[in-house]
Amino acid sequence: MLKQGGTALDAIEAAVRLLEDDPVFNAGIGSALTREGTAELDASVMNGATLAAGSVACVSCFQNPVTLARRVMEQSPHVMLVGQGAEAFGRAQGLPVVANERLVTAAARRDLETHRRSFGTVGAVAIDGQGTLAAATSTGGTTGKWPGRVGDSPLIGCGTYADDKKAAVSCTGLGEAIIRVTLARHAADLVGLGLDGFEAARQAVSTLQRAGGDAGLILVTPAGQLAWAFSTQRMSRAWVSDDSEGSGFGPDRA
Ligand code: ASP
Repeated sequence: MLKQGGTALDAIEAAVRLLEDDPVFNAGIGSALTREGTAELDASVMNGATLAAGSVACVSCFQNPVTLARRVMEQSPHVMLVGQGAEAFGRAQGLPVVANERLVTAAARRDLETHRRSFGTVGAVAIDGQGTLAAATSTGGTTGKWPGRVGDSPLIGCGTYADDKKAAVSCTGLGEAIIRVTLARHAADLVGLGLDGFEAARQAVSTLQRAGGDAGLILVTPAGQLAWAFSTQRMSRAWVSDDSEGSGFGPDRA
């Protein structure tokens, strides 16, 4: 989309929708489950040119909460809608409604039963030909969470942030820790202060130690540098730019 002149916002929404539709990831279909075995989804999106943002939390009947978050940003006067109110807004917007069971996979159920964490929150960051940055994040949250729990992913400045003057950032990891250090905004600020993208990502992730959690993030700078860091063992990522494309899993840079 970007190579064809599309906007950063369209690109990140499309990328996150693909990942939400893929049952492998903890977002959309395949979301981590609450202690009651239901899927409650969180997502957010931010436009770095205007600082417009939209987010939803605890929605249970949409397969692509990232699109709902974008609608909140563009079609409502609000930044964040939660639960039944967010769902009523999505219905009023004509977005397709799905049964909660459609979002629940056997693998996520097994994770809940065996007290294993479902990994795979998804996010995307992009810069387009106009120099606009955008970021989006989408997740089912943490396995076994209380219904009503909200993680970092839908909180602007925590799981997601974008500012054309700093960076676009999307985070994954333990939401309760990420929220306490406002990780996405912190990483963007470090780029804004002049740090190299990888150095900013590493320094931001290292602040998580004080908050007692592991996390990772991806970012793109106004100069188009793509960077990431994580304190977990692995973090799957993939990228495409004018002159390179690739993917990674472990703690290498390539
Ligand atoms: N950050 C997500 C949350 O706490 C979970 C994750 O990234 O694994 O809701």
